[in-house]
Amino acid sequence: MKWSRNVAKGIATFVLASALTACGVVSSGNDTASKPEKKKDDKIVIGFSMDTLKEERWQRDKELFEAKVKELGAEVKTLAANGDDAAQLSQAEQLISEGVDVLVVVPHNAEASAAIVEKAHKEGIKVISYDRLIKNAEVDYYVSFDNVRVGEMQAKAIVEKAPKGNYVYIGGADTDNNAHLFRQGAMNVLKPLEQKGDIKIVYDQFSKDWKPEEALKNMENALTANNNNIQAVVAANDGTAGGVIQALAAQGLAGKVPVSGQDAELAALQRIVEGTQTMTVYKPIKAIATKAAEMAVALAKGEKIETNQTVSNGKIDVPSVLLDPIAVTKDNILDTVIKDGYQKLEEVYKNVPKDQWPKQ
Ligand code: BGC
Repeated sequence: MKWSRNVAKGIATFVLASALTACGVVSSGNDTASKPEKKKDDKIVIGFSMDTLKEERWQRDKELFEAKVKELGAEVKTLAANGDDAAQLSQAEQLISEGVDVLVVVPHNAEASAAIVEKAHKEGIKVISYDRLIKNAEVDYYVSFDNVRVGEMQAKAIVEKAPKGNYVYIGGADTDNNAHLFRQGAMNVLKPLEQKGDIKIVYDQFSKDWKPEEALKNMENALTANNNNIQAVVAANDGTAGGVIQALAAQGLAGKVPVSGQDAELAALQRIVEGTQTMTVYKPIKAIATKAAEMAVALAKGEKIETNQTVSNGKIDVPSVLLDPIAVTKDNILDTVIKDGYQKLEEVYKNVPKDQWPKQ
Protein backbone atom coordinates (compact mmCIF):
# COMPACT_ATOMS: atom_id res chain seq x y z
CA MET A 1 0.00 0.00 0.00
CA LYS A 2 2.92 2.32 0.64
CA TRP A 3 3.61 2.32 -3.10
CA SER A 4 0.06 3.48 -3.78
CA ARG A 5 0.44 6.16 -1.15
CA ASN A 6 3.66 7.44 -2.68
CA VAL A 7 2.25 7.50 -6.15
CA ALA A 8 -1.01 9.09 -5.28
CA LYS A 9 -0.76 11.22 -2.19
CA GLY A 10 -4.17 12.59 -1.30
CA ILE A 11 -6.09 9.95 -3.20
CA ALA A 12 -7.71 7.46 -0.89
CA THR A 13 -5.69 4.28 -1.09
CA PHE A 14 -8.86 2.27 -1.14
CA VAL A 15 -10.08 4.00 -4.28
CA LEU A 16 -6.72 3.60 -5.97
CA ALA A 17 -6.49 -0.03 -4.97
CA SER A 18 -9.94 -0.67 -6.39
CA ALA A 19 -8.91 1.02 -9.61
CA LEU A 20 -5.78 -1.12 -9.78
CA THR A 21 -7.90 -4.16 -9.19
CA ALA A 22 -10.12 -3.13 -12.08
CA CYS A 23 -7.02 -2.73 -14.28
CA GLY A 24 -5.91 -6.18 -13.26
CA VAL A 25 -2.78 -4.96 -11.46
CA VAL A 26 -3.90 -6.29 -8.09
CA SER A 27 -5.61 -9.63 -8.20
CA SER A 28 -8.76 -10.04 -6.17
CA GLY A 29 -10.51 -13.13 -4.91
CA ASN A 30 -9.72 -15.28 -1.91
CA ASP A 31 -5.98 -15.29 -2.27
CA THR A 32 -3.94 -12.45 -0.94
CA ALA A 33 -3.40 -10.07 -3.80
CA SER A 34 0.25 -9.44 -4.53
CA LYS A 35 1.46 -6.18 -3.07
CA PRO A 36 3.74 -3.91 -5.05
CA GLU A 37 7.42 -4.18 -4.09
CA LYS A 38 8.38 -2.00 -1.17
CA LYS A 39 11.00 0.62 -1.74
CA LYS A 40 14.00 0.35 0.55
CA ASP A 41 13.33 3.66 2.33
CA ASP A 42 9.62 2.94 2.84
CA LYS A 43 8.83 2.49 6.50
CA ILE A 44 6.83 -0.61 7.30
CA VAL A 45 3.51 0.05 9.02
CA ILE A 46 1.76 -2.63 11.05
CA GLY A 47 -1.95 -2.30 11.91
CA PHE A 48 -3.12 -3.72 15.25
CA SER A 49 -6.89 -4.18 15.45
CA MET A 50 -7.93 -5.04 19.00
CA ASP A 51 -11.24 -6.16 20.46
CA THR A 52 -10.88 -4.25 23.70
CA LEU A 53 -8.45 -2.57 26.06
CA LYS A 54 -10.68 -3.03 29.09
CA GLU A 55 -8.89 -5.92 30.72
CA GLU A 56 -5.44 -5.45 32.20
CA ARG A 57 -3.81 -7.99 29.89
CA TRP A 58 -4.82 -6.26 26.66
CA GLN A 59 -3.21 -3.01 27.77
CA ARG A 60 0.01 -4.94 28.22
CA ASP A 61 -0.43 -6.63 24.82
CA LYS A 62 -0.80 -3.21 23.22
CA GLU A 63 2.20 -1.68 24.98
CA LEU A 64 4.52 -4.62 24.41
CA PHE A 65 3.45 -5.20 20.81
CA GLU A 66 3.88 -1.55 19.89
CA ALA A 67 7.27 -1.37 21.59
CA LYS A 68 8.55 -4.45 19.75
CA VAL A 69 7.32 -3.27 16.35
CA LYS A 70 9.08 0.07 16.90
CA GLU A 71 12.24 -1.68 18.07
CA LEU A 72 12.19 -3.58 14.77
CA GLY A 73 12.20 -0.26 12.94
CA ALA A 74 8.57 -0.25 11.84
CA GLU A 75 5.55 1.89 12.70
CA VAL A 76 2.40 0.66 14.37
CA LYS A 77 -1.19 1.89 14.37
CA THR A 78 -3.51 0.43 17.01
CA LEU A 79 -7.29 0.72 17.21
CA ALA A 80 -9.54 -0.97 19.80
CA ALA A 81 -13.24 -1.62 19.19
CA ASN A 82 -14.69 -1.93 22.70
CA GLY A 83 -16.32 -5.27 22.01
CA ASP A 84 -18.26 -4.00 18.99
CA ASP A 85 -18.07 -6.14 15.82
CA ALA A 86 -19.15 -3.37 13.44
CA ALA A 87 -16.65 -0.97 15.01
CA GLN A 88 -13.84 -3.52 14.71
CA LEU A 89 -14.61 -4.05 11.02
CA SER A 90 -14.69 -0.35 10.25
CA GLN A 91 -11.49 0.26 12.23
CA ALA A 92 -9.80 -2.54 10.29
CA GLU A 93 -11.03 -0.94 7.06
CA GLN A 94 -9.57 2.34 8.24
CA LEU A 95 -6.18 0.72 8.89
CA ILE A 96 -6.33 -0.95 5.48
CA SER A 97 -7.14 2.31 3.73
CA GLU A 98 -4.35 4.06 5.64
CA GLY A 99 -1.98 1.66 3.98
CA VAL A 100 -0.76 -0.74 6.65
CA ASP A 101 1.52 -3.48 5.33
CA VAL A 102 0.27 -6.25 7.63
CA LEU A 103 -2.80 -6.43 9.85
CA VAL A 104 -2.65 -8.10 13.26
CA VAL A 105 -6.12 -8.80 14.67
CA VAL A 106 -7.44 -9.74 18.12
CA PRO A 107 -11.00 -10.57 17.04
CA HIS A 108 -13.96 -9.80 19.26
CA ASN A 109 -16.01 -12.27 17.28
CA ALA A 110 -14.34 -15.34 15.77
CA GLU A 111 -16.82 -15.63 12.89
CA ALA A 112 -17.68 -11.99 12.12
CA SER A 113 -13.99 -11.10 11.84
CA ALA A 114 -13.63 -13.30 8.74
CA ALA A 115 -14.84 -10.21 6.86
CA ILE A 116 -11.71 -8.35 8.03
CA VAL A 117 -9.49 -11.01 6.46
CA GLU A 118 -11.37 -10.80 3.17
CA LYS A 119 -11.10 -7.01 3.03
CA ALA A 120 -7.40 -7.06 3.89
CA HIS A 121 -6.63 -9.75 1.32
CA LYS A 122 -8.41 -7.79 -1.40
CA GLU A 123 -5.83 -5.06 -0.78
CA GLY A 124 -2.91 -7.46 -0.66
CA ILE A 125 -2.50 -7.21 3.10
CA LYS A 126 -1.74 -10.35 5.11
CA VAL A 127 -3.47 -11.00 8.41
CA ILE A 128 -2.14 -12.48 11.65
CA SER A 129 -4.73 -13.70 14.16
CA TYR A 130 -3.48 -12.66 17.62
CA ASP A 131 -4.32 -14.76 20.69
CA ARG A 132 -7.82 -15.53 19.38
CA LEU A 133 -8.41 -17.46 16.18
CA ILE A 134 -10.42 -15.93 13.33
CA LYS A 135 -12.62 -18.72 12.05
CA ASN A 136 -13.69 -19.68 8.54
CA ALA A 137 -11.30 -17.35 6.77
CA GLU A 138 -7.97 -17.68 5.00
CA VAL A 139 -5.99 -16.26 7.90
CA ASP A 140 -2.28 -16.18 7.10
CA TYR A 141 -0.89 -16.91 10.58
CA TYR A 142 -2.07 -17.49 14.13
CA VAL A 143 -0.08 -16.80 17.28
CA SER A 144 -1.46 -17.78 20.67
CA PHE A 145 -0.99 -20.03 23.67
CA ASP A 146 -1.98 -23.66 24.02
CA ASN A 147 -5.50 -22.77 25.09
CA VAL A 148 -6.80 -26.30 25.63
CA ARG A 149 -3.90 -26.74 28.04
CA VAL A 150 -5.01 -23.55 29.86
CA GLY A 151 -8.42 -25.15 30.52
CA GLU A 152 -6.80 -28.39 31.65
CA MET A 153 -4.57 -26.51 34.09
CA GLN A 154 -7.57 -24.68 35.54
CA ALA A 155 -9.62 -27.84 36.11
CA LYS A 156 -6.65 -29.84 37.45
CA ALA A 157 -5.86 -27.24 40.09
CA ILE A 158 -9.49 -27.17 41.24
CA VAL A 159 -9.81 -30.97 41.30
CA GLU A 160 -6.76 -31.10 43.58
CA LYS A 161 -8.62 -28.91 46.08
CA ALA A 162 -12.06 -30.49 45.58
CA PRO A 163 -11.79 -34.10 44.34
CA LYS A 164 -15.52 -34.69 44.95
CA GLY A 165 -18.74 -32.71 44.81
CA ASN A 166 -20.84 -30.34 42.73
CA TYR A 167 -18.94 -28.41 40.07
CA VAL A 168 -19.79 -25.16 38.31
CA TYR A 169 -18.21 -24.12 35.01
CA ILE A 170 -18.26 -20.38 34.34
CA GLY A 171 -17.06 -19.83 30.79
CA GLY A 172 -16.00 -16.80 28.78
CA ALA A 173 -17.60 -15.24 25.69
CA ASP A 174 -19.39 -17.66 23.42
CA THR A 175 -18.19 -15.54 20.44
CA ASP A 176 -14.50 -16.09 21.34
CA ASN A 177 -12.94 -19.29 20.02
CA ASN A 178 -10.65 -19.34 23.05
CA ALA A 179 -13.60 -19.61 25.42
CA HIS A 180 -14.49 -22.89 23.67
CA LEU A 181 -10.91 -24.15 23.87
CA PHE A 182 -10.65 -23.32 27.59
CA ARG A 183 -13.92 -25.16 28.20
CA GLN A 184 -12.76 -28.11 26.11
CA GLY A 185 -9.59 -28.35 28.20
CA ALA A 186 -11.50 -28.16 31.46
CA MET A 187 -13.96 -30.82 30.32
CA ASN A 188 -11.04 -33.11 29.32
CA VAL A 189 -10.29 -33.24 33.04
CA LEU A 190 -13.80 -33.01 34.52
CA LYS A 191 -15.84 -35.37 32.31
CA PRO A 192 -13.94 -38.56 33.21
CA LEU A 193 -14.35 -37.69 36.90
CA GLU A 194 -18.05 -37.13 36.36
CA GLN A 195 -18.32 -40.50 34.61
CA LYS A 196 -16.58 -42.10 37.60
CA GLY A 197 -19.19 -40.49 39.85
CA ASP A 198 -16.69 -38.39 41.80
CA ILE A 199 -18.04 -35.04 40.70
CA LYS A 200 -21.21 -33.65 39.15
CA ILE A 201 -21.22 -30.65 36.81
CA VAL A 202 -24.36 -28.88 38.02
CA TYR A 203 -23.99 -25.64 36.02
CA ASP A 204 -22.15 -24.82 32.80
CA GLN A 205 -22.61 -21.46 31.07
CA PHE A 206 -20.70 -18.93 28.99
CA SER A 207 -20.51 -15.32 30.22
CA LYS A 208 -21.44 -12.75 27.57
CA ASP A 209 -18.42 -10.75 26.36
CA TRP A 210 -16.32 -12.10 29.23
CA LYS A 211 -18.01 -9.60 31.54
CA PRO A 212 -17.47 -10.06 35.30
CA GLU A 213 -21.07 -8.94 35.92
CA GLU A 214 -22.31 -11.74 33.63
CA ALA A 215 -20.18 -14.23 35.55
CA LEU A 216 -21.59 -12.85 38.79
CA LYS A 217 -25.15 -13.42 37.54
CA ASN A 218 -24.25 -16.92 36.35
CA MET A 219 -22.76 -17.78 39.73
CA GLU A 220 -25.78 -16.39 41.60
CA ASN A 221 -28.00 -18.60 39.44
CA ALA A 222 -25.80 -21.63 40.08
CA LEU A 223 -25.89 -21.04 43.85
CA THR A 224 -29.66 -20.51 43.93
CA ALA A 225 -30.41 -23.56 41.78
CA ASN A 226 -28.28 -25.74 44.06
CA ASN A 227 -29.16 -24.25 47.47
CA ASN A 228 -25.53 -23.13 47.78
CA ASN A 229 -24.42 -26.77 47.61
CA ILE A 230 -21.39 -26.09 45.38
CA GLN A 231 -17.93 -27.49 46.08
CA ALA A 232 -15.88 -26.10 43.19
CA VAL A 233 -15.87 -23.49 40.42
CA VAL A 234 -13.81 -23.53 37.25
CA ALA A 235 -13.90 -19.93 35.99
CA ALA A 236 -12.34 -19.23 32.60
CA ASN A 237 -10.36 -16.08 33.46
CA ASP A 238 -9.58 -13.66 36.26
CA GLY A 239 -12.36 -11.25 35.29
CA THR A 240 -15.03 -13.95 35.49
CA ALA A 241 -13.39 -15.32 38.67
CA GLY A 242 -13.87 -11.86 40.21
CA GLY A 243 -17.62 -12.03 39.50
CA VAL A 244 -17.81 -15.59 40.84
CA ILE A 245 -16.00 -14.68 44.07
CA GLN A 246 -18.31 -11.71 44.60
CA ALA A 247 -21.33 -14.04 44.37
CA LEU A 248 -19.67 -16.54 46.73
CA ALA A 249 -18.81 -13.75 49.20
CA ALA A 250 -22.45 -12.67 49.34
CA GLN A 251 -23.26 -16.17 50.63
CA GLY A 252 -20.31 -16.30 53.03
CA LEU A 253 -18.58 -18.84 50.78
CA ALA A 254 -15.57 -16.89 49.48
CA GLY A 255 -12.40 -18.79 50.35
CA LYS A 256 -14.39 -21.95 51.07
CA VAL A 257 -15.04 -22.90 47.45
CA PRO A 258 -11.99 -23.19 45.16
CA VAL A 259 -12.09 -20.95 42.06
CA SER A 260 -9.75 -20.88 39.05
CA GLY A 261 -8.80 -17.98 36.79
CA GLN A 262 -6.45 -16.88 34.04
CA ASP A 263 -4.29 -13.88 33.09
CA ALA A 264 -2.31 -13.24 36.29
CA GLU A 265 -4.14 -9.94 36.76
CA LEU A 266 -3.08 -8.00 39.84
CA ALA A 267 -6.54 -8.25 41.46
CA ALA A 268 -6.54 -12.03 40.96
CA LEU A 269 -3.06 -12.49 42.42
CA GLN A 270 -4.14 -10.44 45.43
CA ARG A 271 -7.15 -12.74 45.85
CA ILE A 272 -4.83 -15.75 45.57
CA VAL A 273 -2.51 -14.60 48.36
CA GLU A 274 -5.54 -13.56 50.42
CA GLY A 275 -7.15 -16.98 49.93
CA THR A 276 -10.35 -16.37 47.92
CA GLN A 277 -9.02 -17.53 44.52
CA THR A 278 -7.13 -20.81 44.07
CA MET A 279 -5.10 -20.26 40.95
CA THR A 280 -4.60 -18.28 37.77
CA VAL A 281 -2.89 -19.10 34.50
CA TYR A 282 0.02 -16.87 33.57
CA LYS A 283 0.49 -16.39 29.85
CA PRO A 284 3.67 -14.35 29.36
CA ILE A 285 2.32 -11.48 27.29
CA LYS A 286 5.80 -10.34 26.39
CA ALA A 287 6.34 -13.63 24.57
CA ILE A 288 3.21 -13.43 22.41
CA ALA A 289 3.57 -9.70 21.73
CA THR A 290 7.22 -10.14 20.72
CA LYS A 291 6.49 -13.15 18.52
CA ALA A 292 3.57 -11.44 16.79
CA ALA A 293 5.57 -8.26 16.19
CA GLU A 294 8.48 -10.26 14.73
CA MET A 295 6.12 -12.24 12.51
CA ALA A 296 4.31 -9.11 11.30
CA VAL A 297 7.47 -7.22 10.40
CA ALA A 298 9.04 -10.26 8.73
CA LEU A 299 5.84 -10.81 6.75
CA ALA A 300 5.85 -7.18 5.63
CA LYS A 301 9.42 -7.69 4.38
CA GLY A 302 8.37 -10.81 2.53
CA GLU A 303 10.55 -13.00 4.76
CA LYS A 304 9.84 -16.59 5.68
CA ILE A 305 7.98 -17.19 8.95
CA GLU A 306 8.78 -20.16 11.18
CA THR A 307 5.73 -21.84 12.72
CA ASN A 308 5.56 -24.99 14.83
CA GLN A 309 2.14 -26.35 13.90
CA THR A 310 -1.14 -25.72 12.12
CA VAL A 311 -4.56 -25.12 13.65
CA SER A 312 -7.77 -25.67 11.69
CA ASN A 313 -10.13 -22.70 11.71
CA GLY A 314 -12.93 -24.51 9.89
CA LYS A 315 -11.71 -23.37 6.47
CA ILE A 316 -7.96 -23.93 6.37
CA ASP A 317 -5.12 -25.21 8.51
CA VAL A 318 -3.60 -21.99 9.73
CA PRO A 319 0.20 -21.99 10.24
CA SER A 320 0.50 -21.30 13.94
CA VAL A 321 2.82 -20.60 16.83
CA LEU A 322 1.41 -21.74 20.20
CA LEU A 323 3.23 -20.73 23.37
CA ASP A 324 3.18 -22.42 26.78
CA PRO A 325 0.92 -21.23 29.60
CA ILE A 326 2.01 -21.52 33.26
CA ALA A 327 -0.28 -22.51 36.16
CA VAL A 328 0.15 -20.19 39.15
CA THR A 329 -0.89 -20.80 42.77
CA LYS A 330 0.16 -19.11 45.99
CA ASP A 331 3.16 -21.49 46.04
CA ASN A 332 4.84 -20.34 42.83
CA ILE A 333 3.78 -16.69 42.44
CA LEU A 334 7.26 -15.58 43.42
CA ASP A 335 9.02 -17.86 40.93
CA THR A 336 6.76 -17.01 38.01
CA VAL A 337 4.91 -13.71 37.64
CA ILE A 338 7.00 -11.80 40.17
CA LYS A 339 10.35 -13.19 39.00
CA ASP A 340 9.35 -12.30 35.43
CA GLY A 341 8.64 -8.71 36.47
CA TYR A 342 5.02 -9.13 35.36
CA GLN A 343 3.69 -8.04 38.77
CA LYS A 344 5.36 -6.56 41.85
CA LEU A 345 5.58 -8.39 45.19
CA GLU A 346 4.58 -5.29 47.18
CA GLU A 347 1.46 -4.85 45.05
CA VAL A 348 0.42 -8.50 45.11
CA TYR A 349 0.88 -8.68 48.91
CA LYS A 350 -0.43 -5.16 49.57
CA ASN A 351 -3.28 -6.35 51.80
CA VAL A 352 -1.29 -9.06 53.60
CA PRO A 353 0.61 -8.24 56.84
CA LYS A 354 4.27 -7.71 56.05
CA ASP A 355 5.53 -10.50 58.31
CA GLN A 356 3.65 -12.95 56.07
CA TRP A 357 5.31 -11.81 52.84
CA PRO A 358 7.60 -14.37 51.20
CA LYS A 359 11.32 -13.60 51.14
CA GLN A 360 12.50 -12.61 47.68
C1 BGC B 1 -7.89 -14.44 26.23
C2 BGC B 1 -7.83 -14.33 27.73
C3 BGC B 1 -8.73 -13.19 28.20
C4 BGC B 1 -10.11 -13.28 27.57
C5 BGC B 1 -10.95 -12.07 27.88
C6 BGC B 1 -9.32 -14.57 25.77
O1 BGC B 1 -9.41 -14.71 24.41
O2 BGC B 1 -7.12 -15.54 25.78
O3 BGC B 1 -6.51 -14.13 28.14
O4 BGC B 1 -8.88 -13.23 29.58
O5 BGC B 1 -10.02 -13.41 26.17
O6 BGC B 1 -10.43 -10.92 27.33
